[in-house]
Amino acid sequence: MPFSRDSSRQDGNRSGRSGNRYDNRSGSRPDDRRDNKRRMIYHRRKICRFCADSGLLIDYKDSKSLRMFTTERGKIIPRRISGNCAKHQRILTVAIKRARNIALLPFTTSIIR
Ligand SMILES: [Zn+2]
Repeated sequence: MPFSRDSSRQDGNRSGRSGNRYDNRSGSRPDDRRDNKRRMIYHRRKICRFCADSGLLIDYKDSKSLRMFTTERGKIIPRRISGNCAKHQRILTVAIKRARNIALLPFTTSIIR
């Protein structure tokens, strides 16, 4: 009799433990992924070029330097990527739009597929 009781108890405990383990695994896996993503997202603060170099001036006639802040298709690179400060990005966008209007920069480029 005692033997049979022990065996039944052990079985019950085993099943319960296995269930708990499964729950823990399912719960912990997505958390780990999230943590990894957070670590991957880590980015360093870029410094605004125009703030760093007081000699650099934003001129709508200077298409070469404005081209640095546009993509290959002619789109203006956003502040979060270029690292410009809000003040200089505002001046830059106006300069790029002026340069586009007098055909120094493209509005877009045609890509033949
Ligand atoms: Zn700046």
